[in-house]
Formats: sequence, C-alpha cells, structure tokens
Amino acid sequence: MAELITTLGPKREDELDMILPHEHIFANFPTGDDLNCTPEVVVGALLPEVAKTKAAGVTALVDATAVGGARRADILLALSLAAQLPIVPATGIFKEPWKADRVKTFGQEGLANWMIGELNFQIDNTGVRAGWIKLSVADDGLMDHETFLLRAAAQAGRATQATIGVHTVKGRVAHDQLDVIEQAGYTPERFIWIHTQMEDDFNIHLEIARRGAWIEYDAIGDFRTDEEYINWICRLIDAGFHDHLLLSQDRGWYDPSQIGGGVFKPYTYISDVFLPKLRTAGIDEAIIRQITHTNPFRAYAR
Ligand SMILES: [Zn+2]
Repeated sequence: MAELITTLGPKREDELDMILPHEHIFANFPTGDDLNCTPEVVVGALLPEVAKTKAAGVTALVDATAVGGARRADILLALSLAAQLPIVPATGIFKEPWKADRVKTFGQEGLANWMIGELNFQIDNTGVRAGWIKLSVADDGLMDHETFLLRAAAQAGRATQATIGVHTVKGRVAHDQLDVIEQAGYTPERFIWIHTQMEDDFNIHLEIARRGAWIEYDAIGDFRTDEEYINWICRLIDAGFHDHLLLSQDRGWYDPSQIGGGVFKPYTYISDVFLPKLRTAGIDEAIIRQITHTNPFRAYAR
C-alpha cells in the first residue's frame, strides 16, 4: 500500500488528515546559499508557526525546496521532530546554474541514480528520504538540458514511483512535459503542474487534468483573488476533475539571508480563510476533504 514518505517515517492515509501539498520551510532562492544556518536557529524561529499550523488541522506538509534553493534536510528533520509534524522533503534541482551544471557533470544516468538514492535511502547523510522530485522549467518552453533533466526524473520516477512536480507557468509547456514523460515510459498520473494558477486559460487546466496529471493552484491568499480561485474550483467540480486538484499557499519560510529569517507568511490562510469561503460557496465537506486530504496523499504517496 502506498505511503507518504516523511521526515518522521512513512505515513498511511488513515494516519493523516489535512496535508499541505506545497510550502517552504527554509529557502534562499536568490543565491541558494544556506549561510551555514543551524537547525536550532530555524526551529526556534518557526516552531510557534508550525504549532499554529497543526492547531489549524494540518497533519503533514510537503516542502518544495530542492537543490538550488538552499535545501537543508537536517533542518526539516529537526523542525519536524520538535513540532511532531511530518514533512515531505524533495529531491531534484530547480534553479540555474545548478540545473545546467549538474546535467553537464552527471548525465542522465548519474542524475537518475542520484535522485533514486535520495528517494530510496537518504539526503545528504541525514537519514531522511526524499518523498518526491521537484524541478522547474523556463517560462516559454523547455530548454534542452531541462528536457534531459526531466527524462532523468522520469527514469528515477519509474524506479521509485515518485511524483515529479515542476514549476511551470504556461499550459503549453505543461503539455510538452507530459509528452516527454510519456516518451520516457512514465505516466502523467505522477506529474504535478506546479503554478497552474499562472495560466489564465482555464481550458488548459482541464486538458492537463484530462491527461491524468495533477493541477496545483498555489499562492492562495496572494496571487489571485479568492473569488477567482473559487470560480475555477467550482468549474473543475462541474467537469468532474476536482480529484486532480491540489491547493497550496507556497508560503513560509525561513530565509537565512534575512535578519531573523525575514518576515514569515503563515501556513494557515487556506484553513482559516479560504476553506470557510469554499463552504460558503456551497462546496460540500466530502469534496473539501477530497481536495485537502485524499488528493495530496494520492499525489505524493508511493
Ligand atoms: Zn514553491
């Protein structure tokens, strides 16, 4: 039976309730430098926030920081132990120059083996396994080395059943990636179109869901109005594709380049503000549970 791979070990679906499918605990996107930050500092800063998140009903959180964003599995582990909140770490690479450099250095086989090692054994000698593969692609189309990296991810996915989530802002580029994944012998069902909300054309959201992939509306509370998201969600429900939907805030996080980690954005917007609005819009509890529990579990469990 599929389980969610977390910092606190594998979790079954019946052990979990609400799951946040894409947030960030610790990251430095501009330079990728972790500045030798210690786990104690981050735990001290974020523990109260994670406690509020748990009190709001969240039982697991997927961390979306991969190589290139100052990923630190030791920090995820320390925070999850202190807070008793399971966190799902990512393998993969999602920034330049790391993407281009590693493709050049390791080749497809080497990259696939590195990801398989992190998915099946551990990240950076922490004893923590990665739960999924996080990548990114250029806004206007796949660069050659990104196609190469995606093929390596598909190879690692075939070996581990891991899901591949890719930062992708245009629907056309999501289609192109599904073609690559299918040609590599893997399945759209293990693909998450991260940042679907950046594509204005709702019909492409439906097309990607129809191909079997997950669509993810991120930055709820920030990028679009709640009403725009709710309108799309209602249309997905009408079309019968709400079982392919993930909702996230894409928030946090402790940034080691800022004093005290910078200004933290809480993980509780969905639970405190957005879900009550979905209820007011007439969406029933069974569908809300599907979207906040069943879908994220199925999207990531393996
Ligand atoms: Zn993110």
